[in-house]
Amino acid sequence: MKLKRRGFLGGFNRFRLMLTLGLAVVLPAAALVFVNFSQLRAFERDKVLEAAIHRDFLEMLAITEKKMNKKSYAMAEESRDLFPSPGIAPAEKEKQLDLILSKSPWLSHVWLFDENGFVIRSQPQQMGDKYFREEHERMAESYKWLATEAKSLVATLQKKTRPIGFYSMPTKRAGADSYLATAYFTLPQAAADKVVLGGATFDACYLQQTFFPGVLEEQVTQKSNDQGGNKLALMIYRVDPEGGKEVKPLAATRGWDNGKPEVMRKLDDVFRGLGLGIKYQGTSVEALGQTWVHRSFLILGFLSLMIIGGLVLTRHVVNKELALARLKSDFVSNVSHELRTPLALIRLYAETLELGRITTPEKKHQYYRIIRKESERLTALINNILDFSRIEAGRKEYEFRNTDIAELVRNTLESYRYQIEQQGFAFEESIDSNLPAVPVDREAIARALVNLVNNALKYSSDEKFLGVKLYRDNSVVKLEVADHGIGITRRDQSKIFEKFYRAGDPLVHNTKGSGLGLSLVRHITQAHGGDIAVESTPGKGSRFILSLPLASAGQVAV
Ligand code: ADP
Repeated sequence: MKLKRRGFLGGFNRFRLMLTLGLAVVLPAAALVFVNFSQLRAFERDKVLEAAIHRDFLEMLAITEKKMNKKSYAMAEESRDLFPSPGIAPAEKEKQLDLILSKSPWLSHVWLFDENGFVIRSQPQQMGDKYFREEHERMAESYKWLATEAKSLVATLQKKTRPIGFYSMPTKRAGADSYLATAYFTLPQAAADKVVLGGATFDACYLQQTFFPGVLEEQVTQKSNDQGGNKLALMIYRVDPEGGKEVKPLAATRGWDNGKPEVMRKLDDVFRGLGLGIKYQGTSVEALGQTWVHRSFLILGFLSLMIIGGLVLTRHVVNKELALARLKSDFVSNVSHELRTPLALIRLYAETLELGRITTPEKKHQYYRIIRKESERLTALINNILDFSRIEAGRKEYEFRNTDIAELVRNTLESYRYQIEQQGFAFEESIDSNLPAVPVDREAIARALVNLVNNALKYSSDEKFLGVKLYRDNSVVKLEVADHGIGITRRDQSKIFEKFYRAGDPLVHNTKGSGLGLSLVRHITQAHGGDIAVESTPGKGSRFILSLPLASAGQVAV
């Protein structure tokens, strides 16, 4: 009945612990993992990361355009300040325009339009180039167009905070398509009611080889300095007026490597007709998104595994603690029983003697011996428990003295001889008497031996044999206690030296014991700097071998 109750309580405790663990750890952890998991799935499905990067890219393109515009306006303004007054003689005008060209090698053409007509000057050293000359001629034709448009252009410019406008046109350089941007502006020194316009055309080669690459490179460098991460690449291309999909870069940063832009932006204002494109160097946004999602899944999986590992570990610890608790409660019941049996016997025999019913001296002698033996058993048990509690509290002390160990073993066995033979054991003793003195705590070593002998007697069923050997093996003295008893399984062999541990064998179950004996033996041996080993075959018997070093290591109190 008692056992059942304990079993139930143990089960209940475990259930409660597991429930707490479940509610406090597993549920929140599982919920967290689940939420993260579904969030990641949503991220993957809706391409959230990709969208965020695209937004970032768009913003960067807008900023790049702004920078290019700002720079162009500043350059146009610089040229505008160098422009001559409109009223001067045509020859003088040309001279002054030529001066602007020589001061600003990034300009291809400059022109001035006023009531006296249209003057255009181009970089003289480039006039030898066929394409450049054609360009010059086309520019010169702007005059026709200006003649009708200039008035409204001036009116529009005058409304702006900066009276500068831009127009662009395609051109050719060395056979390849190129691009021209021309700034036109009103002149500060011209009267407001006069229709006067100046113009400066940025050199196509300058734009393509210096201006665009410079701004783009600067942007990429700044961005990677600000944010690090994957390297970016930018490029500028001509928007196909026919709406073709093909994108041919006019200029690009290093690392563009002919890839497809992730995000594009058509330019307005200064560089109308051009577009900007951006991408990562050597990878795509999609690949990045996928890597990120995969990595997150991996991390999540790893965390889940860790949680499961933690749970398994906790379960293991809980089970171990519960098993220890069970062992402890078994111990209490075993010890009480062990105390009760000898006490009952002592009382019974003492009462019988007291009543004076026993008349023969042999019988009396037998009763006295039983009483002595039972009290010895009691003392041994109580000594074990006391020793154990001292060891647990770290207060156990040993007193080492040089001892004739052969004599110690012989004396200890002597007081057991009768009991051994009474129980029908064949007793074999082999003690080497020529051993040197060994520094030991006599009482402790005797107790270790008694524990081993007692076990041999307790755990033998049919084959009743006890063998004790004491001999020297190099620098150690070995004390062996062997029996032909029930033996110990391999699994139990590693556990029997733990406190409270008792094997599951039915004979062990029916034999009373505290599970403390071997743990004491081990502690005593280790305190002497030695060790204890067991060799055993289930059903065949066991051999415990206690080794003590000749010069003891443990001269200190332990
Ligand atoms: P107790 O004998 O009080 O149970 P011990 O610590 O002395 O405690 O022994 C622990 C366990 O080791 C025993 O319960 C038993 O299962 C096993 N054992 C010890 N000695 C022997 C032996 N000589 N033969 C078989 N089993 C043994």
